[in-house]
Amino acid sequence: MARHDHHLHHGESLRKAAQERLTQRGEQWTAMREAVFEALAGFGKPASAYDIAEAVSRTKGRRVAANSVYRILDLFVNSNLAMRVESANAYVANQHPECLHDCIFLICDTCGQTTHLDDDSLTGGVRQAAASAGFAASRPVIEVRGKCGDCN
Ligand SMILES: [Zn+2]
Ligand SMILES: [Zn+2]
Ligand SMILES: [Zn+2]
Repeated sequence: MARHDHHLHHGESLRKAAQERLTQRGEQWTAMREAVFEALAGFGKPASAYDIAEAVSRTKGRRVAANSVYRILDLFVNSNLAMRVESANAYVANQHPECLHDCIFLICDTCGQTTHLDDDSLTGGVRQAAASAGFAASRPVIEVRGKCGDCN
C-alpha cells in the first residue's frame, strides 16, 4: 500500500464512518456498541475498557460491566473501528475506519494526548524484515513516547 491521502473523520462523520464499516462487515450497530464507540471517540486520548465502562455507565444511567465493554472493543479492533495502544494498555477510536493501516502512535508522556501517523513505507519495512526472518507479522506495533507540541 503506497502513501495516499485519506480522510480523517471527527465527530458525527466519524460515528457514521464507523457504523458503515461495522454494518458492511455484517455486524449490527447496536445502541450499546454506539454508546461504547461514542465514549471511546470522546476521550481524545487512549482509554482503558474500565474508563469506557465508567463513561457508558454515566450516560446510560446504569452499571455497565467492563467485561462487556471489553468484548465490544475487541470487535472494534478486529473491524478497524478502534486501535489498541499497547504501551498505554488502552484504546483509541480509529479516525479512518474505511482504510487499513499499521498506524504509528505518538504518545505524550505528559498529557497522554495521542496522535498517529500512517506511513506504510515504514511499517512495510518492518513487515518485510519480519518476513525475511521467517516470521509472519500480523500486526507491527510502532509506538513513540515523548512530548507533544503543546507540552514541549
Ligand atoms: Zn488510508
Ligand atoms: Zn492510521
Ligand atoms: Zn502533551
